[in-house]
Amino acid sequence: MTDQPPAAPRGAPPHAESAPVSITRHGTVAVVHIDHAPVNALSRGVRQGLVDAVRALDADASVSALVLSGGPGRFIAGADLKEMALPPDAPFLPEVVGAIDACSKPVVAALDGAALGGGCEIALACDLRLGSAKALVGLTETRLGIIPGAGGTQRLVRLVGVAQAIALVCEGRVLKAGEALALGLMDAVVEGDLLTEAIARAPAVAKRRLAALPVPVGDPAGEATAAAKALKGAKGVPAIAEAIRVIRASKDADFASGLALERAAFLALRESPEAKALRHLFLAEREAVKVPGLEGAKARSISSTAVIGAGTMGAGIAVALLDAGYPVILVERDVEAAQAGVARIDALYSRQVKSARIDEAHKAERLARLLPASDYAALAQADLIVEAAFEDMAVKIDIFRRLDKVAKQGAVLATNTSYLDLDAIAAATSRPEDVVGLHFFAPANIMKLLEVVKATHTAPDVLATALALAKRMGKQPVVAGNCDGFIGNRIYAVYRRHAEYLVEDGAAPEQVDAALEAFGFAMGIFAVSDMSGLDIAYAMRKRRAATRDPNERYVSIADTLVEAGRLGRKTNGGWYAYDANGTRTSDPAVTQIIAEARAAKGIQPRSFTPEEIQLRLLAVMANEGAKELAEGIALRASDIDLAFVNGYGFPRLKGGPMHAAEALGLATVLAEIKAAHTTGGAGSEPAELLAQLAAEGKTFADWLMA
Ligand code: NAD
Repeated sequence: MTDQPPAAPRGAPPHAESAPVSITRHGTVAVVHIDHAPVNALSRGVRQGLVDAVRALDADASVSALVLSGGPGRFIAGADLKEMALPPDAPFLPEVVGAIDACSKPVVAALDGAALGGGCEIALACDLRLGSAKALVGLTETRLGIIPGAGGTQRLVRLVGVAQAIALVCEGRVLKAGEALALGLMDAVVEGDLLTEAIARAPAVAKRRLAALPVPVGDPAGEATAAAKALKGAKGVPAIAEAIRVIRASKDADFASGLALERAAFLALRESPEAKALRHLFLAEREAVKVPGLEGAKARSISSTAVIGAGTMGAGIAVALLDAGYPVILVERDVEAAQAGVARIDALYSRQVKSARIDEAHKAERLARLLPASDYAALAQADLIVEAAFEDMAVKIDIFRRLDKVAKQGAVLATNTSYLDLDAIAAATSRPEDVVGLHFFAPANIMKLLEVVKATHTAPDVLATALALAKRMGKQPVVAGNCDGFIGNRIYAVYRRHAEYLVEDGAAPEQVDAALEAFGFAMGIFAVSDMSGLDIAYAMRKRRAATRDPNERYVSIADTLVEAGRLGRKTNGGWYAYDANGTRTSDPAVTQIIAEARAAKGIQPRSFTPEEIQLRLLAVMANEGAKELAEGIALRASDIDLAFVNGYGFPRLKGGPMHAAEALGLATVLAEIKAAHTTGGAGSEPAELLAQLAAEGKTFADWLMA
């Protein structure tokens, strides 16, 4: 490959920071280089650079063909989501794609990495798509609540037919090189140097505009099946129905009409609350791992791990660690308990084998890395130890004292405590800097959230290790400060309290649950309590009874249920009754208990609309979240959103409690919180931060940046 001086437009050489798009010449072939770190997102500068380059090269008689390259390991990973929050700024993507489509000379896309979303749309407008083994291709827009808006659906359908296009677009599937080749989205997979090969082939490439191809005649039954399957998996995402409509329309309309239909649907969806929520979460995930104070901190090396306590959580955590490829030492109180723990883990894997998620060989390989023990001496070699014993400070302190004696220097000592003071646990050791909270959620091998709790003395490299571990386990980490309940359970406690106030004031538990389910939760809060077991929260309430503020309103209905032996699903009854199939129904006995509780306090029950219930519960969550932000327990509002979406079943399409509160308007939320304070008393005071932002008309993000 010979680098020659760039031709018009006189772009800077590749890798110059100022120009995200530049041109090099190789005989009569011009390579258009896209270089916009980190992933070549389609920012305005990239769009402008591409339009200018393609038009200029089309008009340049010395050029016979064009190659689009994103550089080593890249192509174009998609839209610039940060820009989507700003007013639209020309040139828009359809113009870029249109310039490529209209180019009279062959254009070759050299895909050495991700060609996703808008990047895939650009590739589809080219005449030939060459990829390396690293290529990833897909129209992933529906994952963000939108559809392709620059011809992606209309070109794809001409390549693969209606049924396949529906499946690919609605699932937002990312195809690896081999699959993309098999489906015709790529024309060849190159083994040698991709760019050299693309340049060599370009002059002989014929124009092949997908826009000019007919839509393949498909099988209507297969198309209907694909559409029905996509709608079933849609989970309320409006983009799915729109994608199906637009793809199907390609059969009855010419390319230009299909393009117009797609664009109109894209523009409407882009402004939808669902798309805004999903974009917010996408950006939140990238932000959450940026933790102030960790600059330069290097994660410690973890090659062996251990779990203490093999109950519900310990077994799940061990599976999560085994799945991530680590060997796991499993320590229980005695040999029998350790064996019971192994049996629990075996059963978790057997379930996965039964559902064909793994095969017997995988199960055997994972279990071979599990080492049960009842002697703490077995922990001496572990680089990371996760304690998941009883939720009791005396138990935890005893364990950490013993750990301090046996663990090797530099080992990370983690606890899965849900509520307890991490500093007190760390103080039981001579090395509080090595102690961190790793708060997994049940079932620990499945739930995505990992709350990483920073104690006062937690060392930056220990926190960095926890974040690296989360990544390796495929978890979403959220860093929390040390307080009662950390980010999630602290908010959840307020949420549950207010749900119980609603019941005591007149709503039936099933009405509260129905309102939450209509909001988008998979399950209402009382159904969730029944599933987890009412005894855990009961024990916590008893523990805290002595220190509870007497001005906090206390609802004793849940205590009465537990004392009547109603512990939830495990006793076939809690807030609900359960039949043999586990189906929940209202229980007159519970209605009676609630009526007695109201009567004892002289409460005249009133009725609540679903909207009132939703507003009240959202407001109290966001209010407690605002207190956490002000106290520094959460680093940013979007971290709270991630915690609730990934750990507490908060609907993704609402973007999390803080995002939903902002979407509603903080002034509305504040007014509601004032009413909630009257109802709940101490502990329900409006957050000062919320009042301040509502008064100033600002957002949580504004506050963080100030
Ligand atoms: P569990 O009762 O099911 O299991 C605890 C296990 O720890 C038991 O098997 C017990 O034998 C063992 N154990 C107790 N003391 C021990 C010791 N000194 N050495 C070794 N093993 C010991 O409890 P769980 O629900 O798995 O909860 C464990 C921890 O995880 C608690 O701190 C809890 O707050 C936290 N947690 C629980 C959940 C949940 O949903 N259950 C969620 C997040 C965090």
